[in-house]
Amino acid sequence: MSFQVFGIPVSRGVAIGRAVLVASSRIDVAHYFVPQAQVEQEVRRMLHARDAAVSQLESLKDDITDDAPHELGALVDVHLLLLKDEDFSAAVAQWIRERHYNAEWALSAQLEVLARQFDEMEDDYLRERKADVEQVVGRVLSVLAGEVSAADAVAQRDFAGEDPLLLVAADISPADLIQFKRSVFCGFITDIGGKTSHTAIVARSMDIPAVVGTREASRLILQDDWVIVDGDAGAVIVNPSPIVLEEYRFRQRQSELERARLARLRFTPAVTLDGQKVELHANIEQPSDAAAAIDAGAVGVGLFRSEFLFMNRQGDLPSEDEQFEAYKAAVEGMKGLPVTIRTVDVGADKPLDRLSAAELRHEHVLNPAMGLRAIRWCLSEPTMFRQQLRAIYRASAFGKVKLLIPMVAHLNEVRATLEMTRRVKQQLLDAGIGHTDVQIGVMVEIPAAVVVLPLLLKHVDFISIGTNDLIQYTLAIDRADEAVAHLYDPWHPAVLQLLFQSIDLARRAGKDVSVCGEMAGDPAFTDLLVGMGLRSFSMHPTQIPAVKQRLLRADTQRLEPLVQEILKSEDPKEAADRLLGGYMQIAH
Ligand code: PEP
Ligand code: MG
Repeated sequence: MSFQVFGIPVSRGVAIGRAVLVASSRIDVAHYFVPQAQVEQEVRRMLHARDAAVSQLESLKDDITDDAPHELGALVDVHLLLLKDEDFSAAVAQWIRERHYNAEWALSAQLEVLARQFDEMEDDYLRERKADVEQVVGRVLSVLAGEVSAADAVAQRDFAGEDPLLLVAADISPADLIQFKRSVFCGFITDIGGKTSHTAIVARSMDIPAVVGTREASRLILQDDWVIVDGDAGAVIVNPSPIVLEEYRFRQRQSELERARLARLRFTPAVTLDGQKVELHANIEQPSDAAAAIDAGAVGVGLFRSEFLFMNRQGDLPSEDEQFEAYKAAVEGMKGLPVTIRTVDVGADKPLDRLSAAELRHEHVLNPAMGLRAIRWCLSEPTMFRQQLRAIYRASAFGKVKLLIPMVAHLNEVRATLEMTRRVKQQLLDAGIGHTDVQIGVMVEIPAAVVVLPLLLKHVDFISIGTNDLIQYTLAIDRADEAVAHLYDPWHPAVLQLLFQSIDLARRAGKDVSVCGEMAGDPAFTDLLVGMGLRSFSMHPTQIPAVKQRLLRADTQRLEPLVQEILKSEDPKEAADRLLGGYMQIAH
């Protein structure tokens, strides 16, 4: 019987294959009491299973190839850290020793305790880390039960001439996801997980069609069922009729052809029909991402989110030298193209471990998105900030570096940063350490920054508009809160006015302006932005070809008056559909 299940689309495209069901982390376990005389033996059984799980993960880690997404190694490390946590093993051993639970029961009891703690966390991202603990416990339970992991299950199948496979699970551990890199699975479906869960993050970076948060797919789908994953719509179609299957096979072929066609645009310069040159830059999180940026034909890095060097280090911040090496690697990786390094933007949904959700609550930081984040935090930690600035300036001796200040609301924040950069340059000069001049820009992501932009522009070389936060702060919508996600609206007239004003003010002042939020990488906004006068975009490298294609068909002379009409309209989305839709038909 054919049926459909819906979830959250996290990675685009269509995948069609046979279901491989993987035991969930929360497998049913036997519950029995262990006699007093066997308690220590039971503790050893649990510890042996844990050690075996550690070995499994370590060998998986060794198997990670250089071209695997950088998140994978980090995710395996998180699982290893959780497994090796002595407090965790001690707590499980306590259930065995004090309550005489068998090892499996003790593990699931401790999982319940931790799961409750995670459920109480306010931060969406941290709450979703519960999945990591579940996966780790699931791995130890699998060892105890002599079960196979997803990787083993796949390894045991004979693939010669077989149909493509789709992984279906309550949740998938990142370690098992490593197998995806070897193209064993063509897509995956999970019951749980949100947009920021690790599985979703990895899926997006791997570009494999995926749907998460289906709640019950793993219960409804049977082993070897034919399944279609529609990663655009978030739909899962089980045992499709031949007509539906044929329709999706057609869509799949179309999207593969489209990708191949777009990839050919790699070396084509982004120039509009009326000859306007547009720069397409890449957003990166780690120096190694520079390779993907070059591959996609980016003309530089428009946003290096340096905070990823600072996160999940248990409060041990990266030294100046470590940062210098990372920035230098990114600069060298870009082979002479410019690299815009954003100073550390921690806080809100990107806490340092030191600012865990529990600590934030303890310190009565009620609204971290409006709290001590980004430049505010940097200026409150001058030693840390000076080290980062020194590292950035030192890297400037190896290529073209630009410096970007996040979340600016006050001119004072710019003044204080500029003063620090002057002192850092002087120190480097006095010490004879190589560096060059670095252009300095601000991120426009708070409405107040747009209002005072004429002032800010007098002090900086360029601006970069962070639409993700600009929308959040303009509409008072927490961008990480699923409950208000439907109100997060890039087409809101206030958002569009602020965007246009920022672009227009910067251009009139003769300063460079770029957009580096998600809107820049979404082709649905390309005509609008270029029609507002934008000539520089920064996005995830995989998004560059589709945006470039849109630009190649754009005519700014005709788009500019249409965009002005959209800006004046009461319902900009409707006006854009009508005017830009009509424009597209005439253009082709
Ligand atoms: C933004 O806010 O649009 C942006 C690019 O920065 P981040 O998403 O890192 O906050
Ligand atoms: Mg931002």
